[in-house]
Amino acid sequence: MTTSTAPSASAPLWARTDDTHDPALRSWVTSANDPGTDFPIQNLPLGVFARTSGEREGEPCVGMAIGGQIVDLGVLANAGAFDDIEEFVFEACCEPSLNELMWEGAAARRALRKRMSQLLREGDQEFTSDAALRAEALVAQSDVEMLAPADIGDYTDFYASIHHATNVGSMFRPDSPLLPNYKHIPIGYHGRASSIVISGTPVQRPCGQTKADDADMPSFGPCRLLDYEMEVGAFIGEPNSMGHPVSLAEAEEHLFGLVLVNDWSARDMQKWEYVPLGPFLAKNFATTISPWIVTMEALAPFRVPAFERDASDPKPLPYLADAGNAAHGGIGLTVEVWLQSKQMKDQDIDPIRLSRGPFSQMYWTIAQMLAHHTSGGCNMMPGDLIASGTISGPTKDSRGSMLELSWRGTEPIELPSGETRKFLADGDEVIMRGFCERAGYRRIGFGECRGVVMPAQG
Ligand code: MN
Repeated sequence: MTTSTAPSASAPLWARTDDTHDPALRSWVTSANDPGTDFPIQNLPLGVFARTSGEREGEPCVGMAIGGQIVDLGVLANAGAFDDIEEFVFEACCEPSLNELMWEGAAARRALRKRMSQLLREGDQEFTSDAALRAEALVAQSDVEMLAPADIGDYTDFYASIHHATNVGSMFRPDSPLLPNYKHIPIGYHGRASSIVISGTPVQRPCGQTKADDADMPSFGPCRLLDYEMEVGAFIGEPNSMGHPVSLAEAEEHLFGLVLVNDWSARDMQKWEYVPLGPFLAKNFATTISPWIVTMEALAPFRVPAFERDASDPKPLPYLADAGNAAHGGIGLTVEVWLQSKQMKDQDIDPIRLSRGPFSQMYWTIAQMLAHHTSGGCNMMPGDLIASGTISGPTKDSRGSMLELSWRGTEPIELPSGETRKFLADGDEVIMRGFCERAGYRRIGFGECRGVVMPAQG
């Protein structure tokens, strides 16, 4: 989604661009200059990786993606590359997860970004002149296993797309698709952190309790209506203490960065269990995230106004409204879902795109979700994850779940192999991608969030 104006100098700090966003910047890591890369020098996402061979095989390391390579930030830290930044940046880069860096907040992250943008620029000698350092610190992405970027203590899933909420609501409650609280409260539920897995991890079809409409009794067995949900997740950086809500004006500074999220969902289990307390086992068997966290700084050029509400919509209560959020709270991020069945894989048929949706069309911004989450005094910790809810736009090709695409199974999806899908089959691989683009700026991407469905056990 290309838009014309970018945040100006009068914007809040988190929406301002600087020389690290200059579209003319190139890196001496030549793969970062490929037009198709998700990780040009303007992106610089953070993650945790382990080498798959050599002396340090299996050791978790904090890294930054650049083109097809990863910079091991611990190696650079130990070589003195961050000595002119704060001491804690050095320490945080030598940890086995990003939690320490998250804890240090936005200023530390900005300082690290500025420094790395300098070191990786074409023509910079500091890194390139030391061949031994370069060999030790640069690792090809093909030579690593990506790990969870953080120890995720808590996970919350929201429901912030009004298009998704309206679609799902009209299937289950045709008379009142949108419940009366929707336009007042960023609706969410507390999810399960222990079953969050990194992209590439196979996902086992869950077993659970379901009840057919015409059955007298429920039964227990493999989920029959397995689905994905295309979402965006935000990692929390700087914490707030219990009893001290994060105001909407402060909320952006507590965000660390974004990943893609697949909130795998067992629709038949969900339908039977969700009243009156909301989703439970239908959602807690697996959630997949993409491994690279695109920082809030990298997203600054792509900030857009918050969702424009209809004149007839209620105004949010004061704690969920401010001028900065209204002007810059949205993010011009496009998300896509692709599918490749086992049969397609066997026949060498490429994945097909099921949908492409606009994150800018979410009814609530991430900052509003965080402000609401903490409004009663709940403390958020570094590494906590809040996900947006399924991202669906107004058009059919922008629906972010199979439930919506097949309209509860009534309009099956045709695959190029001749198969059809109402919901996911064993062997199906779901691949999610995301990117930001805007005239005058370099396109940045999120990498992939993928997972293949394995048969139920037992
Ligand atoms: Mn969800």
